Amino acid sequence: MVERQIARRGITSPRILEAFLDTPRHLFIPKNQHLFAYEDGPLPIGKGQTISQPYIVAYMTEHLNLAGNERVLEIGTGSGYQAAILGKLAAEVHTVERHPSLAERATQLLADLGYENIRVHLGDGTIGLLEFAPYDAIMVTAAAPDVPVPLLDQLADGGRLIMPVGGRAGQVLHLYQRRGKEIIKDDLTPVAFVPLIGDHGWPRG
Ligand code: SAM
Repeated sequence: MVERQIARRGITSPRILEAFLDTPRHLFIPKNQHLFAYEDGPLPIGKGQTISQPYIVAYMTEHLNLAGNERVLEIGTGSGYQAAILGKLAAEVHTVERHPSLAERATQLLADLGYENIRVHLGDGTIGLLEFAPYDAIMVTAAAPDVPVPLLDQLADGGRLIMPVGGRAGQVLHLYQRRGKEIIKDDLTPVAFVPLIGDHGWPRG
């Protein structure tokens, strides 16, 4: 998976590749999907949600430019796999999930695997997580029509935020960088993510 799907597509940072080699993806998905754990696509994880394609996890991670000393916020814990990757590359990771059962499962798994720098929070991630702000990097792993303003507000100076923005059927990954009061936005690549549901995302229900 790491060689064929990630390195061969141009993600060659040794730190990122090592983080993937050190993180057994099959542990993060339901047992009936284990056969497909290292395939080149997303997989169902329950509650109508998915663990993202490995390459997309790597691509989004790469764009955060993590050096190792950052405090990172992830919105959309899901299985906890992306958080685990971030946990290997940053000092501190806070990840927010709206489904209690997914948050509980990820909390347990990450504890069992010995991650001490990752905290899973239950709630609406579209309002961010003010308690530990500001964040050097923010990753949103669900899609909304626009970037939630509270997340931009909680981004540190020089910080980077990556998230899929667009309609229900398809989106574009956007990268936002804060330079003082200014936000610089870049459009990266087309993607298809599950919806970000909350006060500053798609409506509930
Ligand atoms: N990062 C995850 C992983 O590694 O498995 C995959 C995330 S999945 C594509 C998107 C997740 O975002 C789902 O688990 C969904 O429940 C969650 N989500 C959607 N809206 C949310 C919100 N407002 N706050 C927190 N989580 C949300």
